[in-house]
Amino acid sequence: MSYVFEPLQQASLAVRGTTDRFPVRRIFCVGRNYEAHAREMGNDPSREPPFFFTKPADAVVDTPCTLAYPTLTDDLHHEIELVIAIGKGGANVAEADVMDHVWGASVGIDMTRRDLQADAKKTGRPWDMAKGFDQSAPIAPLMPLRDVPSVEKGRIWLAVNGTLRQEGDLADLIWSVREHVATLSRAVTLAPGDLIMTGTPAGVAAVVPGDVMTGGVDGIGELEVTIGNRA
Ligand code: MN
Repeated sequence: MSYVFEPLQQASLAVRGTTDRFPVRRIFCVGRNYEAHAREMGNDPSREPPFFFTKPADAVVDTPCTLAYPTLTDDLHHEIELVIAIGKGGANVAEADVMDHVWGASVGIDMTRRDLQADAKKTGRPWDMAKGFDQSAPIAPLMPLRDVPSVEKGRIWLAVNGTLRQEGDLADLIWSVREHVATLSRAVTLAPGDLIMTGTPAGVAAVVPGDVMTGGVDGIGELEVTIGNRA
């Protein structure tokens, strides 16, 4: 057997403190997982079941980096998020067992074409082109779980050109990591290499070419991402 062309290189992310790479299989993202952000997007933050959307695996970019400003948008937004990396697959994982499936954690930005997302919401169309574009998931080097202090509390923040825009705490997640990963594992069979972007706190806003975003989750990681010229 041979392939009709050489398979693409495996998408991957840096691992902190080593030259090893984490192979990325899929990227799942949780919507509306902080109360104040659900409100700022015009939604009722009551505990509706968590919902998910996806980005392609090769949307990941190591940080620090410069992202080309994407096509088709005039309203590119930042969403700073805790990222969970799955190391052991499974379906119907119990909440109590979720951490046995987690390889590590990091911090990333769910870059969003907000104007396309608003159109998609209005017309009932998919979010894919609003969320899953090229380079839409810059992520800091992953931290192995043994070094992660907590995925249940810790300040999460993002600044643009040194001005704080987003700030929250993992303790404010509407659906905790244990809860939303267990829920996700009932929808799909989790596999090693899957990433989960766990939702963003309030303060999402637009960036323009030349802006420098810095952000982090205390104890887990920090990142710096520059917005480059239009693609
Ligand atoms: Mn998001």
